[in-house]
Amino acid sequence: MPFVADAFAALVGLGLGATIALVVAGETRGSLAAPGGVLIAGGRLTGFVGTYLMLVMILLIARMPWLERAVGQDALVRWHRRIGGWPLVLIALHVVLITLGYAQLQKVGGLHQLWTFLTTYPDVLAAAAGFCLLILAGVTSIRYARRRLQYETWWVVHLYTYLALALAFAHQIVTGGAFIGHPLTRAIWIVLWSATAGVVIACRIVIPVVRNLRFRLRVVSVHQEAPGVYSLVCSGRGLSRLAVSGGQFFQWRFLAQGLWWHAHPYSLSALPQPPFLRVTVKGLGDHSAALAQLRPGTRVLIEGPYGAFTQHARTTEKVALIGAGVGITPLRALLEDLPASVDATVVVRASKPDDIVLRHELKELVRQRDGDYHEVVGSRHKIRFDERALRKLVPDIDGRDVYICGPGGFNEMVLAYAAQLGVPREHIHQEAFSF
Ligand SMILES: Cc1cc2nc3c(=O)[nH]c(=O)nc-3n(C[C@H](O)[C@H](O)[C@H](O)COP(=O)(O)OP(=O)(O)OC[C@H]3O[C@@H](n4cnc5c(N)ncnc54)[C@H](O)[C@@H]3O)c2cc1C
Repeated sequence: MPFVADAFAALVGLGLGATIALVVAGETRGSLAAPGGVLIAGGRLTGFVGTYLMLVMILLIARMPWLERAVGQDALVRWHRRIGGWPLVLIALHVVLITLGYAQLQKVGGLHQLWTFLTTYPDVLAAAAGFCLLILAGVTSIRYARRRLQYETWWVVHLYTYLALALAFAHQIVTGGAFIGHPLTRAIWIVLWSATAGVVIACRIVIPVVRNLRFRLRVVSVHQEAPGVYSLVCSGRGLSRLAVSGGQFFQWRFLAQGLWWHAHPYSLSALPQPPFLRVTVKGLGDHSAALAQLRPGTRVLIEGPYGAFTQHARTTEKVALIGAGVGITPLRALLEDLPASVDATVVVRASKPDDIVLRHELKELVRQRDGDYHEVVGSRHKIRFDERALRKLVPDIDGRDVYICGPGGFNEMVLAYAAQLGVPREHIHQEAFSF
């Protein structure tokens, strides 16, 4: 749904324009001509724009259901990352410019002025602590550092971003030159912050809590599907009212020892069959591997559904579903969700036949709709799986919507083949299993 994405982008752009206008309107010829005036104005502008972009970043990952459905969480996380460096650079510039500007105004050295800010201005020390937390979140998100950190460590550091923003808020309102004597600017800024906080609290706390109180999900059974891959079936109340499409995922939190404090994303491997929900998980690390040991009766909290990897993204009446490894599982649910009129071809890639997760279910679903099913099985060195092989398996691929889900490298590889075979970019849909 590009309309939703465009509308959101337009709103963000309008907000940015309004933010800049607020700062510019607060300046006068006199204030700019005063000693340090230009530096101070520059410091205000960078501070405002940097903070505004920070709020946009928070909104992008606030899990707003309509935005998640329209754009997909992976795309939102990509946008969040892309913006990422700007607020940090702008807020750092704000610190430098405001300090140098006031140093010129007071005719003192830069370090002296910084010390005065930290020790005598209300709430500036707290804001400085918040800035340090933001820097920490930024540094741990650099690809090199991110790869070396456990996901959970990175996540906890990111949680401090909320604290960082809370610490920074008061110094803006109390000491910000753009607010003093400008009640309208102050009111707009407070509304913007409160609305952002409201969205985060509603989408990340209130909605999930209310839903989980209703669902009361518990693990019913855990069984092996393939080596290292387990299906978990949970049961709950009121699941018939859960609006979810095949291909979507939830954040799952299992209330068992060592697992309760972190939620992980897993896609449904079948459409809900109230009162049951099923996920199929490959044990890769501490969380996913521990799920095989879960006892029936374990309480489960879910957040979602999320993701745009659904049949609603489809632009044609023909699809090719191409999967490998545990990435086959959302394709299985997606296949089940496709209208009977849609012509479906399924291609699964695996090293060994045993590695094809949910193989019998997939074959049966394809058979029921009279589609085509292909397995490409064998080691990478022996079996060719390139654009020529793909063209042979799906000769009319350029006229189909192509859904891809597999390990990171697999997605990129098939994406490139599909592009080479002339599939338009907007017909290619993929779910990445790591952010
Ligand atoms: C949208 C989506 C849907 C997914 N669906 C499935 C599924 O149906 N079945 C399945 O087996 N796997 C699925 N995954 C992958 C699964 O979430 C990870 O394998 C699991 O979270 C790994 O956690 P761990 O502690 O076991 O391993 P770790 O060793 O901690 O992590 C292994 C890798 O998984 C990624 N990861 C870890 N935790 C998270 C998290 N909370 N959010 C995002 N990425 C994380 C990290 O990038 C890391 O490189 C999905 C991932 C995403 C993003």
